Amino acid sequence: MSDRLPGFSTLAVHAGAQPDPTTGARATPIYQTTSFVFNDADHAASLFGLQAFGNIYTRIGNPTNAVLEERVAALEGGTAALAVSSGHAAQVVVLQQLLQPGDEFIAARKLYGGSINQFTHAFKSFGWNVVWADPDDIASFERAVTPRTKAIFIESIANPGGSITDIEAISTVARKAGVPLIVDNTLASPYLIRPIDHGADIVVHSLTKFLGGHGNSLGGIIVDAGTFDWSTGGKYPMLSEPRPEYHGIRLQETFGNFAFAIACRVLGLRDLGPALSPFNAFMILTGIETLPLRMQKHCDNAKAIAEFLSGHPAVASVSYAGLANDKYNQLARKYAPKGAGAVFTFSLKGGYDAGVSLVSKLQLFSHLANVGDTRSLVIHPASTTHSQLDDAAKTKSGAGPDVVRLSVGIEDEEDLIADLEQALSA
Ligand SMILES: *Cc1c(COP(=O)(O)O)cnc(C)c1O
Repeated sequence: MSDRLPGFSTLAVHAGAQPDPTTGARATPIYQTTSFVFNDADHAASLFGLQAFGNIYTRIGNPTNAVLEERVAALEGGTAALAVSSGHAAQVVVLQQLLQPGDEFIAARKLYGGSINQFTHAFKSFGWNVVWADPDDIASFERAVTPRTKAIFIESIANPGGSITDIEAISTVARKAGVPLIVDNTLASPYLIRPIDHGADIVVHSLTKFLGGHGNSLGGIIVDAGTFDWSTGGKYPMLSEPRPEYHGIRLQETFGNFAFAIACRVLGLRDLGPALSPFNAFMILTGIETLPLRMQKHCDNAKAIAEFLSGHPAVASVSYAGLANDKYNQLARKYAPKGAGAVFTFSLKGGYDAGVSLVSKLQLFSHLANVGDTRSLVIHPASTTHSQLDDAAKTKSGAGPDVVRLSVGIEDEEDLIADLEQALSA
């Protein structure tokens, strides 16, 4: 073996996996078991006391899921990761380690519609208060900081308009405020953007989207960058204070630069319970092996379609950061030089009715609420994902009544353009 560090595509295929030691199986087996036999009573006690690492019960960890965790941690450049049942579960588990009732976190206003709902309504019942800031106005994050602020949450490429967030500028605000920066990297995937390289302390994903990539399995993951010091000022007691459920150990003191991932597993996943099925972990691992190939094709197709739409008489505007004249093109060149992702919006001169009509006439694009599938997808956010918001909030979050969102797949670009052409001229 040479002492070269493996590149991204090599990691996507190999990180975390080795031939199965008992059978020689080359693909990672699906360990479809709830529980694992202890060697003896001492071994059992040490596993339960967190003195040794090992398998106990699939709600807390599973060998198939462990390969997925190691692989995504490697691709993102983190110290450790924890896989959970969905992207939304990842968000709950992360914030549960950071916030006490009455605490606040700052979130970018441009987010996945489901995250806006989760933060506004579900989290309120836990006593976690979201304070919104504008990702295009870095000072709005600074102004939102209070003594109760415990985290900042942004998307690297933001739903639904595909805008690019200035991660480094917001990480500077987080550092000054003494709170971790959490980046939802779902729409970029680590192939396009690695937020930890730009100052993120925690990365979350909906594995359901580009990482799994085939529209067949839900999953979520949390990656610990290992960069944040949880011990200062008693702000993060879950990490810095003795844990009664584990004989009084302090997680940061014991686990150092992967303490956050451990907290998410042994306090979050263990007690809240959103475990990922090993079958889904297997499907997602298989998807990740082709991530670099798929992601490049997704981006190349998206750019070609954005260019086609920009020149179409029925189209009022196209919001794709990969276009040279786009507002976010400078940020795209800096953060995502290989491509600006495959999810973006455009607006129709015909307004709301034209948006509804277009989605019904497209044949190759599927009308559904998902992104990051091999197949091309389309949705009209104002009548679906963002329909709960009032008109002003819709427009602010990039989902005005005339806006259509595409998630461009990996089909032939000529076929996708032909489908859009027939639907727009119908
Ligand atoms: C889909 C999505 C989520 C939620 O993930 P689920 O797996 O559906 O729970 C969160 N953030 C973004 C950006 C998403 O696209």
